[in-house]
Amino acid sequence: MNDLIEDIQNFFKAQQDLFGSDLILNREAGDHTPQSLDSEKKTPPVVSPVKKSKKEQTPLRQFYYEIKDCTKCALGATRTNFVFGVGSGNADLMLIGEAPGRDEDLQGIAFVGRAGQLLTLMLQAIGLKREEVFIANVLKCRPPNNRDPLPEEIEQCEPYLLKQIDLISPKIIVALGRFASASLLKTKAALGSLRGEIHSYNNLPLIVTYHPAALLRNPQLKRQAWEDLKMIQSYIKKN
Ligand code: URA
Repeated sequence: MNDLIEDIQNFFKAQQDLFGSDLILNREAGDHTPQSLDSEKKTPPVVSPVKKSKKEQTPLRQFYYEIKDCTKCALGATRTNFVFGVGSGNADLMLIGEAPGRDEDLQGIAFVGRAGQLLTLMLQAIGLKREEVFIANVLKCRPPNNRDPLPEEIEQCEPYLLKQIDLISPKIIVALGRFASASLLKTKAALGSLRGEIHSYNNLPLIVTYHPAALLRNPQLKRQAWEDLKMIQSYIKKN
């Protein structure tokens, strides 16, 4: 019972952190019920699947060991850590951002800075725990001073992402922000015009939404992001 109360409190806290006191009610029955109310007692700390013992080899972890020392592009020489991605190897939902930032580079884990914390709350708002999804980036290494990734860096790194997608086989992919959307969909179209539709990437459905860093800079976008989140939640439920 205490777990249930804790889950409900966490849910409303996530809603408030995301949307302020202006709570947005989802009118679809049951939509806001966290999916795993009685599964785990507490949200475990973020653990990279790649940090577990080598003995528990899964194809995804094996792939991590194959590529973690990559030096195919110049970022191999400037990074602190290779950021493979984090989450479940059986995830229904795979989220893809641009590239590791400073915090991610230092910790070797995707989306752990402020934007990552907001992403965790966004997932919670649609009843998903961070460890149930898989979170990765177009680039596995941080571009110095967070400059935009270069075309040759994307070209070298994209096969790694494609292999991760093949191994995880999610139901749906979400591109976070302008850069990830443009580079995955190979388009120059504005992010606003790509939202609200189901695109295709590597023969899998892909939905575009705002990068959590953009939501931190521009909180008015949160209402639109919430529409995107509901679309993602509904797609996963139906498929
Ligand atoms: N921004 C991204 O696009 N990816 C991260 O991992 C962190 C911040």
